[in-house]
Amino acid sequence: MIAKVIVDISTSEIDNVFDYEIPSSLAVGVGDRVSVPFANRVIEGFVIEKAETSSSKYTLKSIISRLDAFTAITPEMIELIGFMREKYHVRFIDVLRLCIPSGMRGGKIKESRKFYLSLREGVSEEEIRRTVPKRAKSRLEIIERLRNGSEEMKVLGTEYSASAIKALLDQGIIVKSSVSNYRKPYEKLDSHNGRVTLTKAQSDALAQIKNDDRSVVLLHGVTGSGKTEIYMNLIEETLDSGKSAIMLVPEISLTPQMLRLFRGRFGDTVAMLHSGLTQGEKYDEWRRLLSGDARIAVGARSAVFAPLQNVGVIIIDEEHDASYISETNPRYQTIDVAEFRGRYNGAKVVIGSATPSIETYKSAKDGVYGLVTLDKRVNAKEMPKLEIIDMSKEIMEGNIGIFSRKLKDKLTETVNNGNQAIIFLNRRGYSSFVMCKKCGYVAKCEDCDVSLTYHIDDNMLKCHYCGRRYKMLTECPECGNTELRHGKIGTERVVNEIREFLPDATVLRMDNDTTATKTAYLDILGAFRSREADILVGTQMIAKGHDFPNVTLVGILDADMSLYFSDYRSAERTFQLVTQVAGRAGRSDKQGEVMLQTFSPKHYVFRYAETYNYKGFFEKENNTREITKFPPYTKIARILMTSLDEKAVVDTAKNIYTAVKEVAFEFKKDFVYLQAMKAPVKRIENKFRYQIIMRLIPERADAIIGKINGILDDNIRKNVWTFLEINPQNMN
Ligand code: ADP
Ligand code: ZN
Repeated sequence: MIAKVIVDISTSEIDNVFDYEIPSSLAVGVGDRVSVPFANRVIEGFVIEKAETSSSKYTLKSIISRLDAFTAITPEMIELIGFMREKYHVRFIDVLRLCIPSGMRGGKIKESRKFYLSLREGVSEEEIRRTVPKRAKSRLEIIERLRNGSEEMKVLGTEYSASAIKALLDQGIIVKSSVSNYRKPYEKLDSHNGRVTLTKAQSDALAQIKNDDRSVVLLHGVTGSGKTEIYMNLIEETLDSGKSAIMLVPEISLTPQMLRLFRGRFGDTVAMLHSGLTQGEKYDEWRRLLSGDARIAVGARSAVFAPLQNVGVIIIDEEHDASYISETNPRYQTIDVAEFRGRYNGAKVVIGSATPSIETYKSAKDGVYGLVTLDKRVNAKEMPKLEIIDMSKEIMEGNIGIFSRKLKDKLTETVNNGNQAIIFLNRRGYSSFVMCKKCGYVAKCEDCDVSLTYHIDDNMLKCHYCGRRYKMLTECPECGNTELRHGKIGTERVVNEIREFLPDATVLRMDNDTTATKTAYLDILGAFRSREADILVGTQMIAKGHDFPNVTLVGILDADMSLYFSDYRSAERTFQLVTQVAGRAGRSDKQGEVMLQTFSPKHYVFRYAETYNYKGFFEKENNTREITKFPPYTKIARILMTSLDEKAVVDTAKNIYTAVKEVAFEFKKDFVYLQAMKAPVKRIENKFRYQIIMRLIPERADAIIGKINGILDDNIRKNVWTFLEINPQNMN
């Protein structure tokens, strides 16, 4: 027998399937991981097919061994690899690596087992008398203990010597057995079954989702409309019908709160897959899903690859969230994988959001997706009142501070009343740049083409692209002047400012800098939830999904910051962020309030956000996209090329551009736009960055993208990295 094996090496040259002989002594099946000889080494690989004969002209080498006691890759996943390869032009091995916990590769993580001792079945009193002498007290005591049933070896080992146990095992009086000893994440988390009776609106929505026969259904529900409860009911019904379920949320929403909710409702049948787990926990949670011991996978993006079989429902919460799109190798969109698995299993895909992406909502309106709407909060609770504050008026009236007078007063009042507040600013650090007041010098990263952000916590300048740190300036390196001007405010400065006018308030900060460790964000959210702090200051991290019942005030500082990016999504992003942050206020019995500070109070994004008018915003934005020919009316394809060697990347860009122009000539009607240029950030980590951007009419875009991939394959060159991105989230 021949096994077709994908070897665990990731380079474009070895992205092939290799034939190996299966020795007759080995039972190897499709989906098994094996070790194989490869170019004078022994490496790991995956069997994706078996065949009687090989067409290879070389003499085949043999598989050395089977690596696991189970089959790691299900037939569904093997089909998925083909699908992803075709769709995204990714390598076999890169998809396979998504399908298993990383600690499994190279045998880094092994199964942990618990061992038990018991009397050998059928052992007679006579045999005991004959083989265990009277003076062997320990051995006789162990035998007495085991007459009542098996005991854990570790426990017996603390009471009796290892030699006594070993002697009995050697004599065959007792036997050893073992079971999987799963490492359980958040073991101490109390489980709390918070089951509530669905409101009429919720049960209607649930029925609509179930009755819709389209494979993808969008649940468009305002913040606090009780979507989570609907998801849990869907999952429960799916389990009752004997099937399994996948529940995806943005990483940041995977709080203990959320885990408690799911464990409380579903117990050990829930397995968690996310970055906060140890390698061992990840491996075990994955194993429980593979074996069917657990039938619900809850996790971030990568959990869409959960090794479940017979999937009945896949839920993607906060579907608009950028984290669902993988922008590093292998690049993929979670919804595509979910839809594939939906088709394969005949499962329903449910995507939910208060602010769906324009593309998604358009698909729903066009009838491609089902559309179910919840336009009120649970029990018809009002949305928090949103007030727009014109910051140019503040300046005209003499207030040049970060906070408007009104927000300052409200914040003080909130804290004095014993309530909690959230202050949102989507910029971390203290100030966005430092500049010499005299000569205009700006501190920049040596390796990247960006200015450095000042961080007052450690008195350092940091590059937000490569992470490199520099000493803070005491004087201008160009002219020696000691007077420096600070750029735009960041979260650190907001905290400092609050401490000045509210010295007794406790303030927590949550951004990339305070959440460097894996559990930090859980700690901060936990502390805020248990009211150890009055105010939470943070970046977009605090916008998503959180349910803090005591938050009555939300302040949004510099709401304009994402509005004027030269990115077609900037209005959409701003609307989503503002709506999501605002949605954190007034979620329980207390009424909430939102103050939004802006220099563009009349901007349509804020006008629609003020009244929580998603549909109005959608219509306006959708029209603009149609007229200006941006997605969903076109597909944007960006070829990004980077290299340490500028000449090499320029040459590559030229060659590729010439070839793309030929395609554009052939498909004239499908190209709305085509340009080659330097990327907006010209250099990151010393790599020069160039790009070719095209906008394509959707109908034939896939065919064109196929040709572009071919062009990229023809232009592979050492030391130049090329990427093809479709509708990229980030156009830097
Ligand atoms: P969403 O995900 O739509 O923002 P959640 O599911 O977090 O909303 O629900 C908002 C709040 O309402 C939560 O505190 C939740 O416990 C509560 N809730 C949801 N459904 C019900 C219900 N049927 N009865 C009472 N409270 C509910
Ligand atoms: Zn840098």
